[in-house]
Amino acid sequence: MSALKVIKMGNPILRQIAKEMTIEEILSEETKKLIADLLDTMKAEGGIGIAAPQVGISKSICLIQIEESNPRYKEASNYPLTIIINPKITILDENLQGFWEGCLSVPHLRGFVERPRKVQIDYLDENARPQSIVAEDFLATVYQHELDHLFGKIYVDRVKSLELLMYQDELIQLQESNKSQT
Ligand code: ZN
Repeated sequence: MSALKVIKMGNPILRQIAKEMTIEEILSEETKKLIADLLDTMKAEGGIGIAAPQVGISKSICLIQIEESNPRYKEASNYPLTIIINPKITILDENLQGFWEGCLSVPHLRGFVERPRKVQIDYLDENARPQSIVAEDFLATVYQHELDHLFGKIYVDRVKSLELLMYQDELIQLQESNKSQT
């Protein structure tokens, strides 16, 4: 198993709607290898989620795993590895919440994005079994960010003002100086 190259914003594959997977395809050895490679890639890059289009494969599959130790996302708590295939999303609470999002396909930047605070995701797992989860708060944002990749969207599309798009090191510096002032 190996880490794959992550494609960056500008690559047209990130703008395609990813192809739904058949049951046979989900259960194939090829998909088992893809899942292992996506996990390796996500870990190598220090991400908390990754979608197949980000490694240039336009298939409707993404992974989420939040490790307690991830220094890039202090909002996040432990969340076990979840493999999401052919997802459908339903908004359960339209009230918006905002977080500074980052993306492996948009290196060095962070953007403030507001999204619904509670969603339901119906999907197939790696064994092609139907699953349904309800995600709230930061986790709702993580799911919506990853699912966006399967529908040809990138978080920067949802940043309302370019002033809310920053280099990560500037954002961290700003947050540190705000902290020391209060
Ligand atoms: Zn992303």
